[in-house]
Amino acid sequence: MTDRGRQAVKRRRVFLISSALIIGIILGTISFGVSRLFTPKSDNNEKKETKSSSVSKTVKKIKKDESKSEETSSKQVTTPKTNGNKLNEKYSNLMLVNAKNPLPDNYDSEIRKDLVEIEPELRNNNYVTKIHKSVYPYITAMVRAAQADGVDLKVWSPFRSYADQKALFDKQVERYGGDEDKAATIVARPGTSEHNSGICADFNMADDAFEQTEMFKWLCEHAEEYGFILRYPKDKQDKTGVIYESWHWRFVGIEAAKKINKSGLCLEEYLKKNNIKQEVSVDNF
Ligand SMILES: [Zn+2]
Repeated sequence: MTDRGRQAVKRRRVFLISSALIIGIILGTISFGVSRLFTPKSDNNEKKETKSSSVSKTVKKIKKDESKSEETSSKQVTTPKTNGNKLNEKYSNLMLVNAKNPLPDNYDSEIRKDLVEIEPELRNNNYVTKIHKSVYPYITAMVRAAQADGVDLKVWSPFRSYADQKALFDKQVERYGGDEDKAATIVARPGTSEHNSGICADFNMADDAFEQTEMFKWLCEHAEEYGFILRYPKDKQDKTGVIYESWHWRFVGIEAAKKINKSGLCLEEYLKKNNIKQEVSVDNF
């Protein structure tokens, strides 16, 4: 090998060694950087999470304590809470739903988006819990007012879906050996029950014994102030097509409820006498 050849080999070795060193330094730097980038940060996150969860626990505790004190104070205040929804004396809904005036086919699917959950402390049923949003401020204000008066009024059965109504009806049809007309005297056909409309409710219990309770007495005195009427009164079965139900109350509107009660008429009679015809439709809200 010539001198030039040896020098070339030497240069190549120097080049290779320095290249290896540079690559080593670069790799070392990257791995250090990567480890710094992830390891300590994840620790911080954990610490932050622990800290924030303890903060949220404290907030929850404070909120819980606040709601406790709210509960205590609400018992002393007799003014009904309306959740910021002011009750409108003039608002009314005189839609007549009965065996002759069934709800339209699209009603059940259309109304679902407008249903609101009634708070657990205002009801004694966990299966059916919703009411139409237009009635929500009135029914909740009414139940709160009764409770503030020391009366244990609770919503038992508000909105009932078409499917639930059908299941109830089919059960009666089966009981009467396929006789639908007979079944319809016990349970309304699907789409003809006011419960399918979302603007009425049964209170506490669907039982004749309700008439003897302080809840019934309170409703008779105050329900009209919140827009509700006793929908199926005594001695009106031939007009309503439904037996006397002390537990079933229908929202019509505050002004309308006062007028209907003053007239002594049931809803069917009142609408007929005053020539009021409101289409059975989702457009009524
Ligand atoms: Zn009812």
